Amino acid sequence: MEVVYKTGDGRFTIKFVAETETGLVEELASLQDLLERNTVCGLCKSHEVLFSVRSIEGNKYFERKCECGASQAMSQYKPSVKKGGLFTKYDSKWVKWQPKHDENEVVEESVKTTKKNGK
Ligand SMILES: [Zn+2]
Repeated sequence: MEVVYKTGDGRFTIKFVAETETGLVEELASLQDLLERNTVCGLCKSHEVLFSVRSIEGNKYFERKCECGASQAMSQYKPSVKKGGLFTKYDSKWVKWQPKHDENEVVEESVKTTKKNGK
């Protein structure tokens, strides 16, 4: 069956063919994870989140990137599972990489919660 799927926010319309209902659900689950989850920055809550691909030493890193500089890594499926497929691990955090002392040394800044001490 041919499927036309429009994301909830209307930003994307995707057309694909699903041979079976399991294939349909599999494809929708993948598209929804990619395009409809994690669309708000986990650090600053901005909606200005875009996809980004960095190439480093022959490897490509796929991520979501916020205007505040935070990014969230996406993982690639093994080719035997879904060639060219991406997913976001449930525990993938939004992080900002900031140079420390040395330009080549980086420090991870993730969501921090502060506890106020009771008197
Ligand atoms: Zn942000």
